[in-house]
Amino acid sequence: MLLDIYIEIYRTDEISKNNLVDLAARLSDIAHKSPPWSWRYLNSILKGHKGFKMTAELDKALLIMGAVIDGQHILEARAHPVMVYSQNGNVQEGSIILGRSFHCKHCQRLCVGKVPNQKFCCEECRKAWWEAERRPPRGRK
Ligand SMILES: [Zn+2]
Repeated sequence: MLLDIYIEIYRTDEISKNNLVDLAARLSDIAHKSPPWSWRYLNSILKGHKGFKMTAELDKALLIMGAVIDGQHILEARAHPVMVYSQNGNVQEGSIILGRSFHCKHCQRLCVGKVPNQKFCCEECRKAWWEAERRPPRGRK
């Protein structure tokens, strides 16, 4: 897989340091890998050096890169299917959700917010949480 991608991009099976530096940077970028993979690491995998093997993370980055080379949009290449529940048909089948899941601060339901750093799933939960916060502890008047 790594060699296939290498040949696809650089149109040669001669492994060069410059190409590996470029490939390591591109793959690390795709995987948001920090610290990034080094050209030496990719070289060791290509050459089959003892103690160096393909990781699931690198394999995934190669799959994404291959899909992008084949013309797929990077968002589609990175996406994987999950089942979600849509409110009032707001999310259409096949949509790529860009937000992150969070647990509602009140009901703990898992949701994808409308805005970044959203804390509550709905207005009712926001109100209920604030009312619970203001309520004095039990046993006091
Ligand atoms: Zn809630």
